Amino acid sequence: MSQVDDIKSRLDVVDVISEYIQLKPAGVSFRALCPFHAEKSPSFIVSRERQLWHCFGCAEGGDMFSFVMKHENIDFPEALKILAQKAGVELVREDPKKLNQKNLLLAINDLTAKFWHKILLSSSQAEHAREYLRSRNISQESIEDYMIGFAPDSWDTTMKFLHERGFKPQDIFLAGLAIKKERGDGFYDRFRNRIIFPIRDSHGTCVGFGGRALGGGDEKSAKYINSPQTPIYNKSSIVFNLDNAKSAIKEKDLTIMVEGYMDVISSNQAGVKNVVAISGTAITQDHIRIVKRFSNNIAIAFDADEAGQKASFRGTDLILGADMNLKAISIPSGKDPDECIQKNPEDWRRATSAPEPFMEYMLNVTLKKYPSMGAEDKKNITTKLLPFIAKISNIVEQAHWLKKLSSVIDISDNVLREAMRGFLQKNNYSTHGAIEEKKQARALPKERSIQLEEMLLAIALKYPHYVPFIIDHCGPEYIKDTKLNALYKKLIIYYTKFIDHERSEEFQLNNFYDFLSGEDMSDENNHQKLSDTLILLAEKDYFDYDAIRIKEELQNIISFLYSYHLRLELQSIKRQLEEAEKLGDIEKIKELSKQFSRTTDEISLLSL
Ligand SMILES: [Zn+2]
Repeated sequence: MSQVDDIKSRLDVVDVISEYIQLKPAGVSFRALCPFHAEKSPSFIVSRERQLWHCFGCAEGGDMFSFVMKHENIDFPEALKILAQKAGVELVREDPKKLNQKNLLLAINDLTAKFWHKILLSSSQAEHAREYLRSRNISQESIEDYMIGFAPDSWDTTMKFLHERGFKPQDIFLAGLAIKKERGDGFYDRFRNRIIFPIRDSHGTCVGFGGRALGGGDEKSAKYINSPQTPIYNKSSIVFNLDNAKSAIKEKDLTIMVEGYMDVISSNQAGVKNVVAISGTAITQDHIRIVKRFSNNIAIAFDADEAGQKASFRGTDLILGADMNLKAISIPSGKDPDECIQKNPEDWRRATSAPEPFMEYMLNVTLKKYPSMGAEDKKNITTKLLPFIAKISNIVEQAHWLKKLSSVIDISDNVLREAMRGFLQKNNYSTHGAIEEKKQARALPKERSIQLEEMLLAIALKYPHYVPFIIDHCGPEYIKDTKLNALYKKLIIYYTKFIDHERSEEFQLNNFYDFLSGEDMSDENNHQKLSDTLILLAEKDYFDYDAIRIKEELQNIISFLYSYHLRLELQSIKRQLEEAEKLGDIEKIKELSKQFSRTTDEISLLSL
């Protein structure tokens, strides 16, 4: 078995895709809003039975590998790695010399994380670091789960260690672990005398580090430093702790966003596990896209002072524009979640269990700040709140908050709307940025007749016990689309020649596929692919039909296709008649006239 087949046999496409988007069961298959094009009603179908997905809106489709590649925007080897890890399949090791740059840097990070972790656990140089973590109540379990480490107070310990393991200084530099000396050649360690938090992507791969300075020593050095931008670390798309938190996020259907590593770790220790952090940057579209995979609800923790100043910096406007449910958690005590938890973990658990809608929270905070209801305060209130309301992409929700603000400050909502428009123009903002960003990659609408031809074959393949009925009532000439016609003919040949009707053998899809695999390669691929897509189409459109409705549907489709076929015939006969009249071919005219009236009769019979 190939590695790909091995992985596929251990994983379920439904589970794999569920990690990225929310799937809803619909009959035997699952459906969702397509992540690859903007749509209002779901045309994205995942079939557990066929282990395939297909979007009938934009015509994208494939297996679990193609989904991961497309969704993560990565190439096949990377998707292979992700799915192999998930499946617990060990990929055949690559020769270190052949590692591409990206894998080389990942290997450096991986080794360094282990090195620093070991130093923290057992080296005498790390005594003050261990003491510090104890003073912050970081448990031994957390130290191990997060692989917290310690980078020694030295200019070259880490460089030397990696060099001894065969890594070149230039590569260590590229991994973001070394800094070029200002004078002369060479590099020195970037992280020195710092507690280290490995930063892992959503699959648990260490892509960078955050380092917290330990008290004393150099007063000028920053409290936190992170890995710089590297070929493997892009802070605009990394969400800290998502690898740990994703199952809790799905379970609670809520992502809680805090600011620091310590907040995340303390929250975990307090039993609130659906927590992630964005460090050193505002929330970006990439962050939103990533967290949206796991839940459409996101709550940001604010302390009372920062709500006004920091809310927009922290990217709330982007979240409002992404049509997610944005909520706010008011930190009950202390300046951050960590401080609150140190005082009383129960406060944090209570606060996170019932987050408020973000606009509700902003409204309350702002009204508290400007309580007089004089003209000045009303101006301040609207200046604070309208920019947020303007960003809400859902127009019903937007109207709701305008109305609410209008009644609270007693200014008509038309005036507020006008003020909001003025604000938008001044700032040249688009309220629907997130949606516009999606490519409008819609497939062209198909002709009705082709849609019905697809439906007919979809039913035949999904519910093969109708195949005899279909073959009896629908001639191959009724199917006009070339590809569908070719597939239908295959189906007829298979059914009439290869099924033992004497022994009332039934039509089996797998056997039909075996039959198709006897074709030459290009046909085989096309016919199997087309069949797979059609089966998913049937799962999408007929999942809630019972046998009687399917039979009715079939009869309707066939009679439409038949009458459509007759109309085309009639047109063709007309053309031939004109031709024959031009040539004065009397015999031909007679023959065609007969055909013409016969066909007209049939059509009028159909419309009875
Ligand atoms: Zn789509």
